[in-house]
Amino acid sequence: MTRLSDSDDPDPAANCPYCRSPDACKHLLLSIDQDELGEASGDLAAVFAEKLEDAQQDLAHQIARALLDAAERLAASTTGSPIHDRPGLTWNYRNLYVRNTTDMRTAITKFKALKVRITVAVE
Ligand SMILES: [Zn+2]
Repeated sequence: MTRLSDSDDPDPAANCPYCRSPDACKHLLLSIDQDELGEASGDLAAVFAEKLEDAQQDLAHQIARALLDAAERLAASTTGSPIHDRPGLTWNYRNLYVRNTTDMRTAITKFKALKVRITVAVE
């Protein structure tokens, strides 16, 4: 059984309101540390972890895409170079260029100053 609290003197207010169990019981949908959002227990835990992982991957891709768009706006020229590796496997490279070392420094300074703002909605 999973203890819902590691404390030696668990707070009875954290017990199941239906069967009063201090441990994971058949009523437990989800128990997770709100700050760490690490290992969870309860019948929803596996689905929660799966949903979180999918969303994190999707979010990471969206952030990378937005940063790439921002980097493109700092470039003087761009080229695309799809590399066909094995059949069905294509690396779709995007290459960004600046004219000289001064523009390079300017682009890097401007990129460092960018702020990534994230909005998350669950529907
Ligand atoms: Zn219960």
